Amino acid sequence: MSNEKAVTVGAPFPRNYSAELLTLTRGEGVYLEDSAGTRYLDFGAGIAVNALGHGRDDLAEIAAAQMRKVIHVSNLYTTPPALELARRLVSSRVGASEKEFAAVHFGNSGAEANEAAIKYARLYALATRGENHHKVLSLSHGFHGRTMGALSATPSIKYQKKFLPLVPGMEAVPMGDIAALEETLDATFAAVIVEVVQGEGGLAVMSREYAELLNRLTAELDVLLIADEIQTGLSRLGYLYGSELVDLKPDIVTLSKPLAGGLPLSATLIPEKVNERLELGDHGTTFGGGPVTTAVAAHVWDLLSDPAFIETVREKGEHLGARLKEIAGRHERVGQVRGAGMLRGIEITGSQEEVATAMSDIMAEARRGGLLILRSGSNVLRLAPPLVITREEIDRGVELLERAVKHVVG
Ligand code: PLP
Repeated sequence: MSNEKAVTVGAPFPRNYSAELLTLTRGEGVYLEDSAGTRYLDFGAGIAVNALGHGRDDLAEIAAAQMRKVIHVSNLYTTPPALELARRLVSSRVGASEKEFAAVHFGNSGAEANEAAIKYARLYALATRGENHHKVLSLSHGFHGRTMGALSATPSIKYQKKFLPLVPGMEAVPMGDIAALEETLDATFAAVIVEVVQGEGGLAVMSREYAELLNRLTAELDVLLIADEIQTGLSRLGYLYGSELVDLKPDIVTLSKPLAGGLPLSATLIPEKVNERLELGDHGTTFGGGPVTTAVAAHVWDLLSDPAFIETVREKGEHLGARLKEIAGRHERVGQVRGAGMLRGIEITGSQEEVATAMSDIMAEARRGGLLILRSGSNVLRLAPPLVITREEIDRGVELLERAVKHVVG
């Protein structure tokens, strides 16, 4: 059956979404199926969310069992699953970092987790240094979400221009530019927010040297270092926290995408020095950390944080990277291989116009061939498959990708 039958036209969604959405009806492992019965190898995982793959009975059973007990209580109360998950998150460490977490604020989305992080950082700076120490520094091509605070910390005209004015006090420096960071960062900043691999902005990887400078300057100035691990966290890069890849030592970590296996949940992990400044009612949300999402997430956490599992992700990530380098070597219009672990991509080269057309055509051709992929920035095709993928499935996906690349750019 033709894939076109599965395309939804005229869906009552706002025009900020594509008018031609593929209607997906079920999934199993690393495969998704559309309403026409066509199967796709899923190298997008719901934008780096479904780390454990699709059609999981274990997740479904936990959610159903919890729904029969209690679905929602609000943050005026708590539940055993929320406590359980919070304890696991708070007792985790970012690699060899000496920094500890004291508390976790649960939210419902990545943007919300970053909003909380920015608010906590501003509150801390106001309490410790007084007014006019509220600025937030982010890195060029970073992406932190679409709500006004997170958007204001996302230094990209493309995302911001139609929604001006922004939240005041947001500045950006080019990632990797040591001099710019040294010149700009001072105690008027409440926080620096960074990704170690820029998931939406082209998959650039932070250098160890830059991470070391961020660690040192933020510590000296008592500016809070926020690691946005919404895409890189929970083993996607082959480390529990992506920060470990470059030895970044954040004070605050934000998590979301894979946290509850596909249910909406986010977490903002904060240190004691911030927690002790908070007062009842300073921040809150109705749905964040509900019993269903946290029950599922506690199980997801156990699977994703298992060192033996993380090791397999690292090995498979190396394999994926090596296979992509082979593609780059065979096709002139494929430039750099970007990213790390199981968050990788290939750069498509050419003039701006050529690249824009080629990117869309390759994605459409991949889909026709049975492979779903993502983009990152304007010129990088992004692969973020479920972490449970096998080497054989990686090879199959890479083969389908190369076929699409060859068809479009030769
Ligand atoms: N931060 C990063 C690094 C992300 O990749 C995203 C989403 O792609 C977000 C924040 C925003 O998350 P959400 O779309 O759940 O608000």
